[in-house]
Amino acid sequence: MQLTFLGTSAMVPTKERNHSAVLVSYGSEGILIDCGEGTQRQIKIAGIKPSKVTKILISHWHGDHVLGIPGLIQTLAKNEYDRVLEIYGPKGTKNRMKNMFKAFSFEDKIETRIHEITKKRFFEGKDFFLEALPLEHGITTLGFSFIEKDKRRIRLDAVRKLGIPEGPLLGKLQSGNAITFKGKKITPEETTYLVKGKKITFIADTIECKNALELAMDSDILVCEATYADDLKEKAEEYKHMTSKQAGLLANQAKVKKLILTHFSQRYKTMEEIENDAKNVFSNTICAYDFMKIKI
Ligand SMILES: [Zn+2]
Ligand SMILES: [Zn+2]
Repeated sequence: MQLTFLGTSAMVPTKERNHSAVLVSYGSEGILIDCGEGTQRQIKIAGIKPSKVTKILISHWHGDHVLGIPGLIQTLAKNEYDRVLEIYGPKGTKNRMKNMFKAFSFEDKIETRIHEITKKRFFEGKDFFLEALPLEHGITTLGFSFIEKDKRRIRLDAVRKLGIPEGPLLGKLQSGNAITFKGKKITPEETTYLVKGKKITFIADTIECKNALELAMDSDILVCEATYADDLKEKAEEYKHMTSKQAGLLANQAKVKKLILTHFSQRYKTMEEIENDAKNVFSNTICAYDFMKIKI
C-alpha cells in the first residue's frame, strides 16, 4: 500500500504546493481522496498513470477539493478508460456532478457511478472497508477511513510439521476453513495466524469535532488538515479549520501511530512553526509535501 500526496495546500495553491489530493494505491485500486485543480498533472508528475484511479472520494464541494474532477475525467475519456469510475461524496454530490457535466462540452465520456454517502461503512471490498463521518466545516464535509481487513497467514513451521503439502489445502486453511488431512481434522487456529490490517484516516477541512476523533481512533496513519499554526487559533475557528496543535491533540487522543499534516495556508513559507506546534503534543508528526510517498 502506498500514499502519494498530490497536493498539500489550502484554498490557494503556491509554487510548491498544489490543491488537495492524496492517492491511496492498494493492489489494483487507486483511491483518490479529493481532486483539487491540476491533480491529473500532479498524478503524472508523480509517475502514476491517471487511469490507475478507480475511485474518487470527495470530502466536500469547496473548489480546492474538487476543481480537478472534470479535467481528470476528460483525460480518462481521451485515454479510453475502460472501467466504471466510482465517485463517492456527501449529499448533493449527484446534482453537483450533473451540473458540472452540463457546464462543459464533454465530447468523450467515461462511465461513472456516483454515490452519496449516507452511512458510516459505505464500501466493503474483498480486502478493505471505507468509512466516512460528517465533520464540521460550514458545508457538508466528510472525513474518511481506509480500513484494511485482517489477513490470515500460514504458520509454515506448523504445516511442515503436519506434512501438509503446498496447494489447495493450504489455501483452505488460509481462508479460515478447517481441512481433513490423512484422516485428521486440522483447524486454521493451529496452522495460521492473523495479521492486523492497517487503518488510515483522512480528516479534511473541519474544526475539532467528535466525529474526527471517532474516525481517527487507533489509525496507523492520520492524515489531518492543519491550515494554521497555533497562534492563528482564532482565525482557524473563524474559517472552520484546524491548527496543527489541534491535529496533534487529535492524534494523541485517537492513539494513532503517525500523524501527517497537510492543507497548509499559503502564508507558510517553511513548515517549522506548524510542525513544532504539533510535535509539542504528538512527537511522531511530519508535514506532507507535494509528491511525498509513504509506503505502508
Ligand atoms: Zn480546503
Ligand atoms: Zn473547505
